[in-house]
Parts: sequence; structure tokens; C-alpha cells
Amino acid sequence: MARYVLALDQGTTSSRAILFGEDGLPVASGQEEFRQIYPKPGWVEHDPEEIWQSQWHAIQACLAKAGVAAEEIKAIGITNQRETTVVWDRRTGIPLYNAIVWQCRRTGPACDELRARGLAETFRAKTGLVIDAYFSGTKVAWILDNVSGAREAAERGDLVFGTVDSWLIYKLTNGQRHVTDYSNASRTLLFNIHELDWDRELLDILRVPRSMCPEVVDSSGTAGVCAREWLGAEIPIAGIAGDQQAALFGQGCWTPGATKNTYGTGSFVLMNTGTNAVPSTEGLITTIAWGIGGAVTYALEGSIFITGAVVQWLRDELKLIGSAEESEALAESVPDTGGVYVVPAFVGLGAPHWDSYARGTIVGLTRGSNRAHIVRAALESIAFQTRDVLEAMKKDSGESVDVLRVDGGAINNGFLAQFQADILGVKVERPQVTETTAMGAAFLAGLATGVWDGFTPLERAWKRDALFSPAMSVDRRGALLSGWERAVGRSKGWEQ
Ligand code: ADP
Repeated sequence: MARYVLALDQGTTSSRAILFGEDGLPVASGQEEFRQIYPKPGWVEHDPEEIWQSQWHAIQACLAKAGVAAEEIKAIGITNQRETTVVWDRRTGIPLYNAIVWQCRRTGPACDELRARGLAETFRAKTGLVIDAYFSGTKVAWILDNVSGAREAAERGDLVFGTVDSWLIYKLTNGQRHVTDYSNASRTLLFNIHELDWDRELLDILRVPRSMCPEVVDSSGTAGVCAREWLGAEIPIAGIAGDQQAALFGQGCWTPGATKNTYGTGSFVLMNTGTNAVPSTEGLITTIAWGIGGAVTYALEGSIFITGAVVQWLRDELKLIGSAEESEALAESVPDTGGVYVVPAFVGLGAPHWDSYARGTIVGLTRGSNRAHIVRAALESIAFQTRDVLEAMKKDSGESVDVLRVDGGAINNGFLAQFQADILGVKVERPQVTETTAMGAAFLAGLATGVWDGFTPLERAWKRDALFSPAMSVDRRGALLSGWERAVGRSKGWEQ
């Protein structure tokens, strides 16, 4: 009988289900979008029931396409939009409030207050994170403080919180399991990444009762069993990881120093640092990549806010291109940008610069600057920003990257991939299957259930599509980087 692994990829705008075969390759998939709720400027919510329903429909669509029976599915792996927070009633399973999404800025003032109390170092040392509205902890506190009766119910032990992985597992196990994995726990501001436990002091500071916290389990290991009523067979839920960590795993970055970058709307660069939780002095965060057999692997992470989105901006706002794909030929139609730099600091700059007052800028324009120069400069900005994060990683970890594994929509651009290799002086490797997030979740689940008995079959599943080797002279690279650094300087501190 065939043995499949079902990966659930619960993202920010849609839920997907992808079935993987024993060869580690995708067989079929299903997808459903759900509503984005914007109650106020800067606030973002999802309806937890819609998250679940869309996930369930995606599963059904995927399995219908594949024509595979539930008995043939050996395991389920879950990967999820990270940090998004749900609070629900332990007994009834009814959410108290919408899910507060990672993008939501409502707890910004609460974070300012925590920083003003001098707590930044406490949180950094224990969680590896910076105090920011992005992470889950202040979102849980917000629900307890703002939903009538919530705090009392939480103190009585009636409420639980979880990230989306916890919520889906609660649903799939019919309320039997309230769990999360190490990678998701490490994004909450409540989890001590060294002691591997919820932190009493941080729970007290954020006023979150410990009884609300999920049990933290391995990223690869049976965390629960999907109830028979859903698919007609009991299936172990055996893999869990936050989306970027799952992508790191799916990219085969299993050893210290291995690094990946995903080029979507923004970019997430993650470097495996092994058993070493490397603290950052360079504007990165320290996070748990995954936990297997009770031992965790750490990662350094840098997030860049705008990468692929600068291409959308060229298309939709400037109308310099008709499609994202067109940017490649246009960039290649000129030998260089003629000294033009685009710094896409549209929402400030993320890692490693962290300047929320930075704004986008185009510098170096001359009478001869044309559309192709600007498009090329915008693509180059994606590579320059990635280089800034990798430089920070090198300083923090003392490790230099030999090969950067890449995925995400924008890196299909051949010009960008080659320029990335050139500007890093490092090989850039792109896989055939770019569904690395779902692949990571499937790998974690299949490893735990004997579908794969080690990394060798997974190495075979990771097939290279293209390798880009650096070909730029050191002098030219140096000149371009010095221009980029000056351009970034011009964008910083603009908004007052
Ligand atoms: P997300 O998951 O964040 O929506 P995707 O991985 O689907 O992102 O990537 C989409 C992004 O990649 C968009 O911002 C788009 O502008 C960019 N993109 C897609 N194709 C290309 C291309 N050929 N060249 C440059 N950018 C591209």
C-alpha cells in the first residue's frame, strides 16, 4: 500500500493542503482563501472558525484530486503563519475573540511600555526576541484585558491560548490535545528558549496564566491523532513547525551554517546554528528552528519587510512593467543601473537596520536614467537587503555561508538570482520543488512515523533546479555595496 504524508500549510491569506508521496514529492494540493478583517487602521484579524473551515476544505479538495484513501495517509504535518494568536474556551472550543494576526499593531503601545520599563534585555535573554507587537504574548494579554469576563475565566483555568498550529490540532483531535511545538512556542515572548519551558517571570510580566499555555512537543513526533470522524481513519499528527522554520527544514538546511532565504512579499533569512542559541548584537533574532527527540536546533533569523513587493510596486504604482516576469528582461537590457539605487523602505527598514522612520527612496538619478535602470535597481535592492542580513548573521555567528538556498516567487527571476550570488560572493541554489514550507512539514511528520527512516531519502527529494555562481569582480562588488550603503543612509530617519 502506498504511503503518503499530508501537509497542512495554514498561511496568512489562504489555507493549503499538499499531499506528498514516499519519494518526498507533491502529488496533489488544495487551497482556500479566507477573510482578512481590518477593524481599525493597523489592526488585522482572522476568524478562527474560517481558518479551520478553509483548512478543512483544502484537505478535502486535495484528497479528492489525489484520489487517495485516508488509510494510505501515514501522517499529517502542520506548518502555519507564525505568531497569530487564538484564545478559546478549553471545554467548548469556542474562541473568545478573533485571531489576532502577526501583522496586527494594536499592542504597539503595550510594547513601548514594556520597553520603557527596561524589560527589553529580560525578554531578549530569555526568548531571543525583541519586544514587538509582532509576537504573540502581548496579543494574548490584549484579549484578556479587552474581552468582557476573559481575565476571570482565564484565572479560573477555563481558557487556553495557542498559535494556529495549536488551534488546528485542537480541532483535528476534537479537543483532545492542546499542544504546540518548540518552533512556534519560541515566537510567543513567553517561552524560555534555553530552559525549554514557559517562563514564570515573563508570564507574570504579561499577566498570562500558565494554565493557558499549550503543552510544548517535538516538531517531529506524534503530537495527537486526527479523529476518525474527519477523514474516516485515525491519522497521527506527527510534524509541526512555524512556516519559516518548516521552509528551513524543507530546504534541507539541517546542519549548522546552512541558510535559506524565502523571497515573497518580504523575505525571511534563517541560518541553522545547531545546538548554539546565538545571541544577536546585529539586529537579528534568535529562535528555535525545531525540536526533535527533546533536543532543539536553534536559528538566527532576519526579516526584510519589502522584497518581492517592490516588484509589485513597479507594476501597480509606477506602471513601469506589465508583469513581475517582465522585470527580468528589462533589468538585463542595461549593463548596470547607471548609478541609480532604489531603497524600498516603504514601511521602514527591518533587519538588520530596524528603522521604522526610514522611507523609500530613489537616488543617483541623472538625465540619462530610464525605466530599465530603475527596474534593475529595484531588483538589486532585494539582493542588497539580503546581503545586509547575511553580513549580520556572519558577525553574530562567526559562520560564513557557503551556499544560500532560496525559494519564494521572486527568486524565479534569473537576473535576481545571479545578482544575488554576485553581490554575496556566495553560490545561490534553487530547488525544483519550491513548496519548501509544506515539504518541511511533511518531512517532519514522515520522519516521525517511519515513512522515511533518515535524511537520505529527503536529500534525494530535494532536487536542484539551478545553481548560480558568483561571477562579479571583487572591485565591482565593493563599489556597488558602498553605493548601496550610502543610499540606505539617505533613506534612514526620513519620517519625523
Ligand atoms: P507571498 O507568499 O509573500 O505572497 P510569493 O512567494 O508568492 O509571495 O511571491 C510573490 C512575490 O514575488 C510578489 O511580491 C511578486 O512581485 C514577486 N515576483 C513573482 N514573480 C517574480 C519575478 N519573475 N520577478 C520578480 N519578482 C517576482
